Amino acid sequence: MALRFAPSPSGHLHVGNLRTALVNWLCARKEGKPFILRLDDTDRERSSEAFADAIDEDLRWLGLDWDQRVRQSDRLARYAKAFETLKALGRVYPCYETPEELSLRRRALLTAGKPPVYDRAALKLSAGERAGLEAAGRQPYWRFQLEPGVVEWDDGIHGTIRIDVGTLSDPVLVRADGAPLYTLSSTVDDINLNITRIIRGDDHVTNTAPQIQLFRALGAGVPAFAHLGLLHGPGGEPLSKSLGSESGRDLRAMGIEAQALASYLATVGTSDPVRLAPMGELTEAFDIGRHNAAPATFDRVVLEGLNAQVVHALSYNEVRAKLYVAGLPHATEAFWLAVRANCTKVRDAVEWWPVVAGPVDPLVDDAAFAAEAAALLPPAPWSDTTWKAWSDAITAKTGRKGKALFQPLRRALTARDHGPEMRALLPLIGPDRTRARLAGTRA
Ligand code: GLU
Repeated sequence: MALRFAPSPSGHLHVGNLRTALVNWLCARKEGKPFILRLDDTDRERSSEAFADAIDEDLRWLGLDWDQRVRQSDRLARYAKAFETLKALGRVYPCYETPEELSLRRRALLTAGKPPVYDRAALKLSAGERAGLEAAGRQPYWRFQLEPGVVEWDDGIHGTIRIDVGTLSDPVLVRADGAPLYTLSSTVDDINLNITRIIRGDDHVTNTAPQIQLFRALGAGVPAFAHLGLLHGPGGEPLSKSLGSESGRDLRAMGIEAQALASYLATVGTSDPVRLAPMGELTEAFDIGRHNAAPATFDRVVLEGLNAQVVHALSYNEVRAKLYVAGLPHATEAFWLAVRANCTKVRDAVEWWPVVAGPVDPLVDDAAFAAEAAALLPPAPWSDTTWKAWSDAITAKTGRKGKALFQPLRRALTARDHGPEMRALLPLIGPDRTRARLAGTRA
C-alpha cells in the first residue's frame, strides 16, 4: 500500500508537477502509507542526471521527503519479464510500420473525419510477411492488444469515468530497440511497488483505460485512480515543462518561499479557500474529494499574497543568508524587523536599504517646516521612542499633527510616500542623515 510521484527527469518540475507531488505526499502522510519517488528515466536520450538531482532538490525544498526512490532504468529486467508474460498470453503483437507510415495513416484518417486510431494492420500480417519484413531489416515494436468494450473506474475526483476502448490505439509497450515505454514500465512498477492509489493530472485520464487492462492482464489488482484538474496559466494554457517560467526553481529564484508555494498548491483547485498553513495542518486537512475536476488557474498574485504573509513572519536568523545573497551583508536584525512588513519577498528589503544606509534624495516640499522640525530633534542616542518624542515636540511647537505632520517628514527622510513605520526607521537612519535630509541634502 503506497503512493508515488513519477516524474521524468527530462526537465525541471513545473508547478503542476510540484502540485501532483505534494498532493500524493499529503495523501500518503495522512493515510500513513509510504511515499515513493519514481524516476521515469527509460528514455535515456531525454533524461539527465542533472534533472534527476534537480527533482530531488526541488521536492526537498518544498518540504517533501520520500520513503523510497527508484529509477526505472534500474528495473529493466522487471519490464522484460512482464513483456514475456504478455507475449505468452498473446496480448502483445509485433508491428513494423515506420513513424512516417503511421503519421501518413493518421493524417488520412483525420482528413476523412475519423479518429486517428491505429488500424491494427500488423495483426493481419502472416508469419511469412513478418519474416519477410524482418529479413529486410525491420525490427518489430510491440503493441498491447486492447480488449474491446468500455473500461470504467470510480475516479476519486471525477466520479465514474467510462472510456470506450474502441476510441484508442493499442498502446506501444516496447520500442523496436527493445526499450520499454511508459504504459508498460509504469504499470509494472505500480504493481511491483504495491501502489494502491494513483493521483495525477487530468492529462493521464485516457492512459488509465489501457493501464487498467494491463493491470488485469498481468493478474494484478487495479489501484484507485484520481485525476486532478490541470493547472492553467493566466491565458488558459496548460502549464507544462516547456513553460519554464512556471518552474518551481524559477519561482524559488524569484523569492517565493516553500511554505507559500506548498500552501498554495495544496489548496488551489479545491473547494477550500486558498490559505497559508504549515505542512502538518495541510496534511490533516487533506481530502482528495475536495479537489476539483475543472482546471484551476495558477494565480501568481494570490501566491505572492501568501508569500508576503510568510515573509512578514520570518525572523532575522531565517533571512540572514538570503539578505547576504541579495547584496545586503550589513543588514541588521533591527533593519529586517523594521522593513519585513513591507516586503512580499525577502529580497524586497533591498529597496529599503538606502533609506537607512543612504543615499536618499530627500523630497522636501516645505523647507521652513523641515528646518523647524530639525531644530526639535531629540538628542542621541535614539531608540524606537524617539519618533514619538520628536513628533510630539513638533505638534506642541507648530500645531501640526496627523498626515500634515508625518507626510512631509516621511518624504524628507525616505523620499517616499509610504513605507515601514517611521518609529522603527528613524533610529536606523540616525541623526546625521536625518539632519542632512531635512536640509534637502542627498545623504
Ligand atoms: N512519468 C509520467 C509523467 O511524468 C508519470 C505519469 C503517471 O503518474 O503515471 O507524466
